[in-house]
Amino acid sequence: MKGKNYHDHKRMGLCVRCCDKAEPGKIYCLTHAEAERDRQRKKHAKRKEAGQCRYCTRQPLPGRALCEKHLETERIRSKTRGKHARPKAKTTVEKVTMLSESDAVKAILALRAK
Ligand SMILES: [Zn+2]
Ligand SMILES: [Zn+2]
Repeated sequence: MKGKNYHDHKRMGLCVRCCDKAEPGKIYCLTHAEAERDRQRKKHAKRKEAGQCRYCTRQPLPGRALCEKHLETERIRSKTRGKHARPKAKTTVEKVTMLSESDAVKAILALRAK
């Protein structure tokens, strides 16, 4: 399936595994897309079972699905994903700050009332 045939099929919008028409924007027909999804799912499940990182065969960090290297990669990726992801986090931080400020005010008022 590799080689010229693969690229020819891909270019013609045919499944790269057989000669059926591929799904729009995909390289597999419906049957093989499902088979491929299943294969990926099994691969992930197997790695998870084996206690391996989702992306490689290294040991993931405790409580995480990724190894140290790939956690860092994910972190960088989410950071560089765009400015849309950041304000949300900032809002959360602001909310927490506001909350703790009002809590501090309450605490001061409670002290003064005594
Ligand atoms: Zn196919
Ligand atoms: Zn990894």
